[in-house]
Amino acid sequence: MDFGWSSEQEMWRKAVRDFAQNEIAPRVREFDTSGEIPREIIRGMAQMGLLALTVPEEYGGMGADWTMACIAAEELGRADISLALPVLYLVEAAWGFIFAQYGSEQLKRSVLPRVCSGEAFLGIATTEPGGGSDILGATRSRAVVDGDEWVLNGEKMYISGVRESLKMGGIHLTLLRTADTGDHRSFTFMAVPLKDTPGIMPTLIEDMGRMGISTGGFAMEDVRLPAHYQVGEVNRGFYHAMEGFSAARALIGATCIGAAEAGLEMGMAWIKERQAFGRPLASYEGIQFPLADLWAELEGVRWGVYRAAWEMDRFYQRKEGGHHDIAMAAAIVKLRAPLLAWNVLNEVANWYGAAAYSKEYPIEMGIRGVRSYSIGAEGTVNIQRLIIARELLGSEYMPYRN
Ligand SMILES: Cc1cc2nc3c(=O)[nH]c(=O)nc-3n(C[C@H](O)[C@H](O)[C@H](O)COP(=O)(O)OP(=O)(O)OC[C@H]3O[C@@H](n4cnc5c(N)ncnc54)[C@H](O)[C@@H]3O)c2cc1C
Repeated sequence: MDFGWSSEQEMWRKAVRDFAQNEIAPRVREFDTSGEIPREIIRGMAQMGLLALTVPEEYGGMGADWTMACIAAEELGRADISLALPVLYLVEAAWGFIFAQYGSEQLKRSVLPRVCSGEAFLGIATTEPGGGSDILGATRSRAVVDGDEWVLNGEKMYISGVRESLKMGGIHLTLLRTADTGDHRSFTFMAVPLKDTPGIMPTLIEDMGRMGISTGGFAMEDVRLPAHYQVGEVNRGFYHAMEGFSAARALIGATCIGAAEAGLEMGMAWIKERQAFGRPLASYEGIQFPLADLWAELEGVRWGVYRAAWEMDRFYQRKEGGHHDIAMAAAIVKLRAPLLAWNVLNEVANWYGAAAYSKEYPIEMGIRGVRSYSIGAEGTVNIQRLIIARELLGSEYMPYRN
């Protein structure tokens, strides 16, 4: 057991923190208002190797392990508590990894170097208008083989990065029904380019938060894709999706921890400065005790994040442990970290008083952004609870087959 960081990890954290605090933090309000992460920031991220960093070097990535990826996610969340830019980062890190593992060589060679250089977007599309939690029941979009092509019909909804994909090009790993076995062996992943693809009809949704990155949907009407756009094995898409969800959940945990840390640091600076009844707010136990409680919880959840990263590194680098260990560790942090960050930012808002409610200060951006991660994005809190309960009790106690 070792709770220390290696010198390589410390150097990486410092490099990402310097970049994020200097180049990103001062511009968060700007992109929360404009709705778009500035090109020069994306270029800067590419130069730092931050885009799809888990992708092997031969495809343009850094081949970073999950501990390094979580360190960067934490620092990006700390710099952008609106959590817009961390979405771009973590979606590409998690799902770029899945694409690098299971995509066809031909497509990987054409897509991944452009994703890693910030010229294309890579996203995930599993959710449909009928629901996101119940993939088995709600996934109606279908792909059928026609000659040497796939033909796709259906609709995906509440998908991150639709506008980015339409503008920059790239792919969304899209889950489609390819069989009717009634269980998890009915789905296949396809790499769907939204830009300039006949039959794609995109929509955009106006969100409450993380305004710097878009959310939208796309209908597919007889979209024809060559065979090499298939990702992974036919009818194994559900399993590839679960692998990607676990990775994304660990990264979300890290980025929410970063936002919580930033919130508490801002809050501590504020309560030391702000006076009420002749003393700094920091001198009242009514302020100190929630600070101490939140800090203690943060410490625990933070180690949970790196435990999940460790499980993934153990599995992917050393072939030890397995998907159940990863799913459990990632579900724990996806359950706790977004709720913790939400609680932190709401408590800090109390300390700020009226100032927190104004756009003069970033707290309100954080509250709006962090909420996305307990509501939905990469699985709701109840879905994390179901995964944890399944791992504790066994699948036979779940109300559905899995
Ligand atoms: C900002 C944002 C970005 C997103 N980006 C993407 C993306 O890039 N790609 C993508 O595919 N999806 C994305 N999503 C969708 C997200 O994955 C879904 O919101 C999530 O999976 C939940 O699906 P739903 O919203 O349809 O809720 P539902 O599945 O309809 O669930 C509604 C409620 O019921 C609860 N519930 C469901 N089943 C159970 C059960 N068995 N027991 C107890 N409670 C249950 C849920 O926890 C939830 O509270 C995004 C969502 C948001 C908010």
